[in-house]
Order: sequence, then structure tokens, then C-alpha cells
Amino acid sequence: MINLSHLKGRRYGVFGLGRTGMAAVKALVAGGADVLAWDDNASQRKAAEDAGAELADFATAPLNYLEAIVWSPGAPFLAPKPLPAAMAARRAGVPLISDVQLLLDAAPDATFVGITGSNGKSTTTVLIAHILDVAGRPNDVGGNLGPPTLGLKAMGADGVYVLELSSYQLELTPNPRFNIALLLNLEPDHLERHGGMHTYGAIKRTIFNGQPEGGMAIVGVDDAHGRWLQPQFANPTSVSAGSDIPASIYADETTLYDQGTPVFKFEAAVALGGAHNRQNAAAAYAACRQLGVSVADIASGLATFPGLPHRQELAATVGHVRYVNDSKATNASATTRALASFDRIYWIAGGLAKDGGVSGIEPWLNRIRKTYLIGEAAPAFKRQLAQMAPTMPVAQSGDVVSALNAAHRDAQADPTASVVLLSPACASFDQFPSYEARGDAFRVAAQRLSQPQPKGAAA
Ligand code: ADP
Repeated sequence: MINLSHLKGRRYGVFGLGRTGMAAVKALVAGGADVLAWDDNASQRKAAEDAGAELADFATAPLNYLEAIVWSPGAPFLAPKPLPAAMAARRAGVPLISDVQLLLDAAPDATFVGITGSNGKSTTTVLIAHILDVAGRPNDVGGNLGPPTLGLKAMGADGVYVLELSSYQLELTPNPRFNIALLLNLEPDHLERHGGMHTYGAIKRTIFNGQPEGGMAIVGVDDAHGRWLQPQFANPTSVSAGSDIPASIYADETTLYDQGTPVFKFEAAVALGGAHNRQNAAAAYAACRQLGVSVADIASGLATFPGLPHRQELAATVGHVRYVNDSKATNASATTRALASFDRIYWIAGGLAKDGGVSGIEPWLNRIRKTYLIGEAAPAFKRQLAQMAPTMPVAQSGDVVSALNAAHRDAQADPTASVVLLSPACASFDQFPSYEARGDAFRVAAQRLSQPQPKGAAA
């Protein structure tokens, strides 16, 4: 747990008592701070009270004696509509901050790497930490993934905190100071909360504010926003996997280059398929070189990175067919990355559709042998696919396991090596509590297919 004893006797609020908020209550109480806490949920309030916080409804209680309120990033405070507790804090002149801000202030000697962007944050974050492990550098990983930030281990000058940062967290981090700050890319996301692309981009760019002497700004230049942003820094490090403008660290289909010198061959990396992952690898390389990791250790880390579950995860291999779980692809744009990564695909898609359905996948349709539709989106996707690719076979399969069984039969009967791919382009909530549960169901069933079948069992 992060030591907050420098806050002894000071007064903080904590609003929102989920995992993040409860970890903040515990760390603040352990550090000797007075804590005022609130959540609409009574049992969470009780847990905070048991942990040593005082309770009060922030919408009506006097707040002006608080130094700051640690605000849960999951609770929108201004848009789509202002929350009374946030308005009360504003009237009292009390800043809303994230647990990330408390960590930054509590570990002045440690090194901080901050990673943001619309896509690839988790992969790049975990990849950097994996390379640091390979190099034997003390580190811990958190922010928008893993354990709550204030539950990370306490580290001094030799420690590196590798933090994934969502726009919600950055918005609540008024004094960032990332030694290495990385913005991978920018696509429309969470616009209902940020009130539009302009504000969303501005919030993401705050990751570069307050960088200490000798800090490094890393900008992904594969999208229009990155290309616009890059020239605004005196000395940025640009990373790319396929941009037509020169970048400091760039990847082509086979090789990673540092200022034009080849440093890694992607054929050695099992879990970094696709141009998007080559961009993540370029970014991780840039950050780790700045941290003083040798090229050899970085290469070894890239080669041994196991990948993250549910992101083009190899769930099983049966004969000449690979079964790939890409359940995290909850929109068409993420699915296009998976379709672009494989050649001969038996594709399982559907669930709870997003606006636009599967539009955007058109350039990759010729890679799909057959599509198996599941969930609520199935009828609409069938109509959309019939317009895009009238000759492509499309089956209505109902649920993930039925779709997998059907795709398995077809792929095994195909003499050419192929991939059965779950990349739904949809949220999971019509049939599963989360994309993780959907991916787990696919993985378990695919692994069962890879076990020897008892005699007489149906395929
Ligand atoms: P995030 O944490 O930003 O949601 P993840 O690393 O979890 O990103 O990856 C989620 C999905 O986003 C992946 O399955 C892939 O489809 C896509 N993706 C990953 N990296 C990138 C990238 N650098 N650029 C564009 N898309 C990416």
C-alpha cells in the first residue's frame, strides 16, 4: 500500500466507494488523514465507515474544510449532467482529484511512466512492465488496470510506476509529472462524458503537462491527431507502425527500427501480431530505452510477452486451425484490427451492437470464409453483411459455444490452415456480464475441442 503519512492530520474527501475509493479510504486512514466519505450505496458506505471514515452526503454537507476530494473516475461529475456533489465541491472551492494524483505526490523520488490513448493502453502498459521485469528493474503496474493505484507497492528512487491512464483519470489529475508520457492514438470515445472530440483530445494531452527535466514525450503518429501534435513539441519521440511520415521508432511488417537501425524482428514475438501491436511495441521500446534498458533486454521482453487475455489471445490450436479469443473487440474499429491480422478467417461476431454495426470492416471482408452471428445484433448484422458481401456465407448461430462448434467443423474440413476468430464488434451484455466472461466461455470451449474426444462423443 502507498504510504500517505505526509497527509497526517489533513482532511480529505472520498467520493465513490468502489475498489478505487475504498483503497483511497484505507490508505488515507492508514496515513493518519481525516476522511469524509460518501457513496449512494449504503453497504459501501458502511464498509468505508468500518475502515475509519466519517460519512456525509457531499451534496449537502459543508465541504470547505477539505483539501481535496478523491473522486471515483467512474462517476461523471459534469457531463452528461452535473452531479450535485460535484457542484457542491466546486462552490466550496475544493478540487476533485484522482488516486493517481495522490500516488504522484506520495512518491517524489520514483520514476513515472504514463500511458494513454484511445486504443492499446493496456497492452502497451503491461508490455513495458514485462520488459522491465525481464531487465530486473523494480516496477509496479496500475492506474486504469490491475489493483487500485493506492494499493500498489511503495517504491523509492529505483522504482518505476507504469500507469495506464484513462481520460477520466487524467481529467482528475491536475498536477501530473510523468517522466515518460505516451499518447498512442486518438479516436472518438467517451464523447458523451467529455462533451466532444476537442475536449477529449485536450484532456488526453494533459499527460504531457508538468514533465520533469529530462522527461520524454512519446507521440504515436499513425493517426491525424498524432501527426498534428508532434510538431508542437521541441523534441518529441515519435512512434509509428506504418505512417508515411518519418518517425524516431518505427515498425514495418517484419522489423522494428530505432532511428533507421533494425533492432527487432517481429517473427520472434508470439503475441504482437498486427500493425496495432507493432505500434504498441514501438512505443514500449521508446519508453524502455529512455529508462536505460538495453536493446537486448527489450528484444527478449518483446519476444516473451504473453499478451493480454481477450485481445487476439491464442486460446487453442487443433491441427491446422488456431482458435483466437478477441472478446475485448467491442466495436467494429477494434474488430478491423483482428481481421487485418489473419488471412483465412471463420469469424464469430455479434452481441449488443454499437452505432454503425460492422461498418468499417469492408477492406478485410475477403479474408472471411464464413461468418457466425450471435446475440441480439445477429439479424441487423446479417442484413448489413448481405449488402457489403452478398456472396459471403453467414450462419445464425445464437450463442458463442454453438458458433464455435459450427466454425470448428467448417475450419477443420478446410484443408488450408485457418483461424476461428471471436471478435464480436459488440458489447457482451445481452448474453454475458462482461467481455471477459464471453471470452472465458470461448476459451474454455475451444480448449475442450483441443482435448482428445471420448469415443462416440459428438463433435
Ligand atoms: P485499451 O486499454 O486502450 O482499451 P487494449 O490494449 O486493451 O487497449 O486493446 C484493446 C483493443 O484495441 C485490441 O484488441 C485491439 O483491437 C485494439 N488495439 C490495441 N492496440 C492498438 C493500437 N495501438 N492502435 C489501435 N488499436 C489498437
